[in-house]
Amino acid sequence: MAMRIPLIAGNWKMNTTLAEASVLVTEMREGLERIEGVEKVLCPPFLSLSLVRELLQGLSIKVGAQNMHFEEKGAYTGEISPLMLKELCDFVILGHSERREHFKETDQMVNEKVKAALAAGLTPILCVGERLEEREAGRAEEVVVRQGRAALQGIESPQRMVIAYEPVWAIGTGRAETGEGANATIGIIRDMMARLYSEGIAQGIRILYGGSVTAANVAEFIRQPEIDGALVGGASLKAEEFLSIVAQTVAIKK
Ligand code: PEP
Repeated sequence: MAMRIPLIAGNWKMNTTLAEASVLVTEMREGLERIEGVEKVLCPPFLSLSLVRELLQGLSIKVGAQNMHFEEKGAYTGEISPLMLKELCDFVILGHSERREHFKETDQMVNEKVKAALAAGLTPILCVGERLEEREAGRAEEVVVRQGRAALQGIESPQRMVIAYEPVWAIGTGRAETGEGANATIGIIRDMMARLYSEGIAQGIRILYGGSVTAANVAEFIRQPEIDGALVGGASLKAEEFLSIVAQTVAIKK
């Protein structure tokens, strides 16, 4: 079986001024650096990317953005391109449910973004997940597979990608999915990858769980064989809690 290096990514969302970002990184960077055997990614707002990158210079902690446009440049006022991001970070979160919901991102737009990110040498963290009404209608599986397939249209080499299963009803609500439930859905996403590509690619790709992950519940997810780490929102804004999430991940996965 392929060895997948666990990954914990912190999505700071629209939080932290430059001063606050500086404090947060300074509080966590030494502790994070000491933890080996897990990939650590911080995803601050665009305006803090440069500063965070500078504060992490020479360390193993990686930087990611939370979104991007798919065009390289042009008349897209207010947007940020893959080429601009490539100068500042390695990862980019794409298709987050908050982008789909508040900014009307469609599966097709997410697909364009994933293709553009890969072409630019960025690692996309592709988010998929069902809304509460979809889950209650028994359509969770169908929704994540539809979103995953749509996002991967036309992509021949998805190996570098990371996928995050984030049930929308669990994001920022304090109501996380169960470890077993998340493991089952992530297994379905992995099967989808095997059908679209190959068993080898499916076994090599990292799939994270996201949705109200905290230091108190992370172990339940990380213990599951299909779950390779977590995309953490709220809890990534607290240095001690984020460090604990990363440390527990290594302790369980090693
Ligand atoms: C997220 O922003 O992707 C997320 C999972 O948020 P939270 O951990 O706050 O639920």
